[in-house]
Amino acid sequence: MLYQRRIADNQIVSAKLELHLRGSRYAGVGAQLLGIVSLGLAGFYSLNSQVMLAWAISLLLLNLWWSQRINRTLETSRHFTQRPAVFNELLLYAAVSGAIWGGTVIWLDPYLSDLIFYLCVGVVAIISVVTIAVSVVIRQAYLTQLVFSLGSIALWLAWHAEDRPFNSGLAILLVGLSVFLVIASEWMSGAFSEMVETSLERAAMSKDLASLTDSLKTRNLQLQDARRQLAEQATIDEMTGLRNRRGVNIIINDELARMKRMQLPIAVIALDVDHFKTYNDNYGHPAGDQVLQQLANVMLEMSSRAGEFAARMGGEEFIIFYPTVNRTAALELAEELRMKVLELKIPHEKSLTAEYVTVSIGVISCVPEWELEFDTLLKAADDALYLSKTNGRNRVTCGELEAEAQS
Ligand code: GH3
Ligand code: MG
Ligand code: MG
Repeated sequence: MLYQRRIADNQIVSAKLELHLRGSRYAGVGAQLLGIVSLGLAGFYSLNSQVMLAWAISLLLLNLWWSQRINRTLETSRHFTQRPAVFNELLLYAAVSGAIWGGTVIWLDPYLSDLIFYLCVGVVAIISVVTIAVSVVIRQAYLTQLVFSLGSIALWLAWHAEDRPFNSGLAILLVGLSVFLVIASEWMSGAFSEMVETSLERAAMSKDLASLTDSLKTRNLQLQDARRQLAEQATIDEMTGLRNRRGVNIIINDELARMKRMQLPIAVIALDVDHFKTYNDNYGHPAGDQVLQQLANVMLEMSSRAGEFAARMGGEEFIIFYPTVNRTAALELAEELRMKVLELKIPHEKSLTAEYVTVSIGVISCVPEWELEFDTLLKAADDALYLSKTNGRNRVTCGELEAEAQS
């Protein structure tokens, strides 16, 4: 079985007690009322009317008190198992009320005609049958009431078999009815127990399911978060925080297409650190990393407007993409970038170009044609960068694009 859960016995008893009390506070008392009216009327005309009135009123009060008591119990405590007294009280009340009905019939016997007496016995039998529906949840209580009411009447009838014509027959009938009610109560009580157990189990399962769903939701959110972080990390260079080559590929086509549609110029600045190998050799790789981070910060600062971005294309090579920037402006920006790197004044004593770290830059700018691919732009910027290198480094060279539309 995939899921199995046992509900504790005391929990079942507790739920059954609650069910019993809820059922008996109105319906149970209602059934008693039927008896009070019927037997009360029978006695009223055959016996002393005042005595009968007093009997009816005391019984009514008893039932009212009991109903109130049940209400209070239900309000104050839902954990009936912690109060075994409730159970004992139920048994006691069942015994008392059973004894009252049995006793009343026996008490009235000498004063009633045959017909009325048998009708009274019938009423008590009906009460016993009706009560089964509400008080069978706690079977012990029902059986107690049955024994005290129908049991005592049957005994009385058998004992006085000669007094009335149908006493012995009725005694047998009542015993038969009692046996039937005992069997029926067994069956009904079992069905109630099963119902209570199933509903408790279902409540427990739905609680479990709710918490399982909650934890699955949390886990799902965590997974989504992790996936998003992973995707982000895959597009961002860990050391510099700039986009990596993959990050560029993801956004560049949209950006390029936008500029193609609008026929606005774009510019790409390609940058390479001069004599970086000797820098590493001289100052160590970690120091080289720090230089790359510093340069990345400068590039980030210079690519903060919408659509602009800086990226690390590999090793110590970077690009900055500028939308809506023409050749003149691109050259100015490239020159500004070169100067800003120089102004960082990062000592590079082994550089053959300057006493500080310098960069060589290649610039390309054009109004993109429909066929233009980003790789073509990159290649042209790289060619210009190569020229900067061969012409002495620490400089900016503006490249040309074949069939480019000059801005
Ligand atoms: P050039 O002026 O011609 O560009 O000379 P260069 O030494 O800069 O160029 P070269 O291509 O010979 O060497 C690039 C160096 O960049 C080699 C490599 O150790 C270094 N490098 C590449 N990636 C990293 C990195 O992530 N950290 C550090 N510290 N160094 C790196
Ligand atoms: Mg280099
Ligand atoms: Mg290089």
